[in-house]
Amino acid sequence: MTQTLTPPATAASEWVMCVGCRAVVYGKRWERLLRVCPECGRHYPLDVPTRLASLADPGSLQLLELPLGTVSDVLGFVDTKPYPQRIAEARAATGLDGAVTAATMTIDGTPVVVAAMDFAFLGGSLGSLAGEVLVTAADTAVAMGCPLLAVTASGGARMQEGAISLMQMARTGAAWARMDEAGLLTVSLITDPTYGGVAASFATLSDVIIAEAGARLGFAGRRVIEQTIRQKLPPEFQTVEYLRERGFVDLVVAREQLRAELGRILRVGASRRGRRHRPETSPLVRDPGLLPETEPWQQVQRARDLRRPTLLDYAALAFDDLRELHGDRVSGDCPAMVAGFACLGGEWVALIGQQKGHTPAELAERNFGMPNPAGYRKAARVMRLAAKLRVPIVTLVDTPGAYPGALAEEQGQAWAIAENLRLMASLPVPIVTVVTGEGGSGGALGIAVANRVLIFEHAVYSVISPEGCASILWNDATRAPQAAAALGLSSRDLLRLGVVDGVIPESAVGVGEDAAAADLLKAALLTSLAELAAMTPQELVRDRRERFARFGTGGFVAEAACMEVASAAPASVRVSANGKGH
Ligand SMILES: [Zn+2]
Repeated sequence: MTQTLTPPATAASEWVMCVGCRAVVYGKRWERLLRVCPECGRHYPLDVPTRLASLADPGSLQLLELPLGTVSDVLGFVDTKPYPQRIAEARAATGLDGAVTAATMTIDGTPVVVAAMDFAFLGGSLGSLAGEVLVTAADTAVAMGCPLLAVTASGGARMQEGAISLMQMARTGAAWARMDEAGLLTVSLITDPTYGGVAASFATLSDVIIAEAGARLGFAGRRVIEQTIRQKLPPEFQTVEYLRERGFVDLVVAREQLRAELGRILRVGASRRGRRHRPETSPLVRDPGLLPETEPWQQVQRARDLRRPTLLDYAALAFDDLRELHGDRVSGDCPAMVAGFACLGGEWVALIGQQKGHTPAELAERNFGMPNPAGYRKAARVMRLAAKLRVPIVTLVDTPGAYPGALAEEQGQAWAIAENLRLMASLPVPIVTVVTGEGGSGGALGIAVANRVLIFEHAVYSVISPEGCASILWNDATRAPQAAAALGLSSRDLLRLGVVDGVIPESAVGVGEDAAAADLLKAALLTSLAELAAMTPQELVRDRRERFARFGTGGFVAEAACMEVASAAPASVRVSANGKGH
């Protein structure tokens, strides 16, 4: 079946009036603006030919040849018209074979398979032919080894095909699972409206969910919900902006920015050519004797200094091309946790960590770097995606602790942190953690189960804050300096205990010299990633589990673990593993 695409003829009128704001726009300008109102920003539906042309690099669009051209009317369905007649009329009106059209193209240079839905074709309903096109698109992406982009617009499953239509949800779910097994990126572009069986299958299964501004996305329609609950819903209900706040959508993007934004995301799924550069000299100090003795309470003050670089400072200085993802797909998007992908030395890594700030306003906006459960679940989501794409994970720790709030408890703070400990114990990719400032308790460890755990010289890592320790043990928070000394939280002590594998010296880096600190961080990360590069997924998992298994109660347990570690890990990991610590 060979299909050609012709956009439907636009309205005969030379002028178009926006129903949202009644602005009148000249027709040719309207088309140039991709049917977005220049006055109020309202996005009008795009037909599939125009949509595909708006995304593809010039000359790169090629429609997929499909094995099936006919729609089987298995039920002999008749509403006001027989089903075959409805199909014929929809084909004549849209110039399309069905509700979904698949094509290969490049977007900003990245090859991708695109399956795009047209709401004008029987409400974009998901029937057996639409399912066939979606499955073929996924299989083609697997065969080509490239990402898959689904552009959705649908009212849901197609009634005229009965339960056969329902089965397309399961079929597409399985196709997305094959993309996961092949380690290939899936992206959904949600356009208005996306509902029912499409929302409840492939549309929301993609690794990254980008939505067009103002689109609506949901399972049940507004009218059905209002009738059921006998309440009026707020106007923003089920808009993608509303869903982004609740953690279900990564990004909401205006139509004119879509091509650039999709290009940026899709590049994460396409491997880079270059090899990660290994620095000639490692900046890491692995012998605690080489570090100066410091006053522990002074170390705590230094670690908390608001002038220290934050994660986003490091992302800008030591990394390139940060693509931040948003939302935990359960309850929200935590501003205290940044998670996404960035380039380090020419290769992608997942970059995850707490974000504080330099000013009171920045700190308040980021909840003082104290994540809620949505932050840990977002981190987990990005770590799973990194594992799927076989991309190493870098986590930067800087938190007073996980947020101790009532809502955080109701949303399962303990569960979210615990889940990350188990997840990180099993991920098949290299993980390197750097404590850059405050390493506060379980809130830090929730992203710090790594193959290599490093710390900046003036950072700290502790089971509890010195103030918390002093008030619990001595009922007197002013004895925090004494607690700081007792807790062994300085980088020197942590290296001696084997809790960290290396210290990034910063004696020579003055406060405010962010670029120098970033250079040290980059060199330390590249050194550690190079050490792990030759390990197989199984070796990485074993190395990580053994690294944490060595913190046993006595010499016997610790030494047994140490002997196994000796075979797989470089000497630095073994430094103080022989029971000396406790
Ligand atoms: Zn308008």
